Amino acid sequence: MKIALTRLHADIDARVTAIRAYSPDWPCARGCDTCCRQLADVPQLTAGEWDLLQEGLALLPAERLGEIRQRIAALTLQPTRPVVCPLLDLQTGTCPIYAHRPIACQTYGFYVQRDKGLYCRDIEARVDDGTLSDVIWGNHEAIDQQLTGLGKICALTEWFERWENKH
Ligand code: SF4
Ligand code: SF4
Repeated sequence: MKIALTRLHADIDARVTAIRAYSPDWPCARGCDTCCRQLADVPQLTAGEWDLLQEGLALLPAERLGEIRQRIAALTLQPTRPVVCPLLDLQTGTCPIYAHRPIACQTYGFYVQRDKGLYCRDIEARVDDGTLSDVIWGNHEAIDQQLTGLGKICALTEWFERWENKH
């Protein structure tokens, strides 16, 4: 599973690098957190993605982990959508587990899933106004296909609860 995820990361990195080379002013950058603040739902992760993400969580200071714990607990009770990612650092607008983040986070700005309405409206606006015209997006169907080999899928809240119960 780890090899499959590493291969998938390499494929995504290659695509992202190609898009950035073609469009050096691509807007996804540190501090741009609109997508993290407007998730359609609680993030869903495969077992392989969760294994990686928990390595990132284990590196966080206890205080930071405590904040995340509280926000995840609140999220389990929140009936409304969209949701703010409970991992997002709300002060800096950065992802505290960036190197370990899920595939959906790595691909959101660079791949389109128009049939599911999952793509960045900020980028869409720039494509529409011609600032980012002629972009060749990544193919999300290929990503979805590879995700099927990464184990069962659960909500982030559920993975986190199981992880907490083990510690
Ligand atoms: S996907 Fe959109 S909102 Fe998210 S980092 Fe990229 S430009 Fe910003
Ligand atoms: S895991 Fe990180 S990149 Fe993904 S939505 Fe949460 S804060 Fe944003």
